[in-house]
Amino acid sequence: MRTRREIRRLLHPSLYPWGAILMLHRVDTITPYRLWYNEHLKIPPNYLDGFLTYAKRKGFSFVSLDELVDILSKKKHARRILSITLDDGYKDNYTNGLPVFKAHNTPFCIFVATKFPERNMTYWWYLLEDIILQNESITLSDRSSFVCQSKQEKEQTFLDIREKILTISQDNFNRHFSDLFPNIDIDLNKYNDTLPLTWEMIRQLKDEPLATIGCHTHSHISMSGCSRQMILDDIQLSLNLMKEKAGIQMGHFAYPFGDEVAVKDYHRGIVQEFDFKTIATTNDGLLYYTTDVHHLPRIFVTERNASDILDSLKCLC
Ligand SMILES: [Zn+2]
Repeated sequence: MRTRREIRRLLHPSLYPWGAILMLHRVDTITPYRLWYNEHLKIPPNYLDGFLTYAKRKGFSFVSLDELVDILSKKKHARRILSITLDDGYKDNYTNGLPVFKAHNTPFCIFVATKFPERNMTYWWYLLEDIILQNESITLSDRSSFVCQSKQEKEQTFLDIREKILTISQDNFNRHFSDLFPNIDIDLNKYNDTLPLTWEMIRQLKDEPLATIGCHTHSHISMSGCSRQMILDDIQLSLNLMKEKAGIQMGHFAYPFGDEVAVKDYHRGIVQEFDFKTIATTNDGLLYYTTDVHHLPRIFVTERNASDILDSLKCLC
């Protein structure tokens, strides 16, 4: 016997959510003395393992982005569907994440900013964290100053300076970033040997049936700080590099800084010129049959909220 709620769902399927795309970044253990804003990008491998086990026990199935497009375009019957994405292109996705995904036979997509494997990324969010952890006060070139003695002050200082960094023009970003800290020597190349996926790892992921490699621009640009031509050039460079160095034609895209503030209709139009099968945002939300494949919502998963997310998704039909 069907309940009235189930009958309503059958009659009006477009009104009910049936799935969600999860957004992760890193798969690594949390380092307690580091700052939360960066550490919350990590899901520990054993936690990911437990999360996947729990999700399956609760009746969730995991699909790739290609399978998701199929469900949406053909309006296939679906319930409790999840799709895992990992942004940026961190090495731990391969070293720590891949074994867990394989053990659970779970598909996943890594959205790679190709500056990561090219090893010329400025990991400003980790450089800023280092500066804050190593100093008890910081004065910036605009004469604003910050006391950062306690952990709480350091966390707040990180957020305050991050806001300033996000407004820096993408043109000559490195120079502007260094200039912001007139009294501090910054090694802009730090972390390029340790954090990113290598091209060799990406080539191996190409042969892994569970893995999809998606586009995340080349320089991890914020659309709001770029001209139309900069956006077109940066995405095209990323597509070319991925084809040339790993033989991968990327069919899916995720905006770096993909919330409503950073991504306007104007930017959506530019990215859609590339004919990606899906375009993912960082807007929080669930999947409906009416969801636009070129403006997909995602749910940001952290160690703190992962099990809450599954409980809140039990409503999925
Ligand atoms: Zn990103």
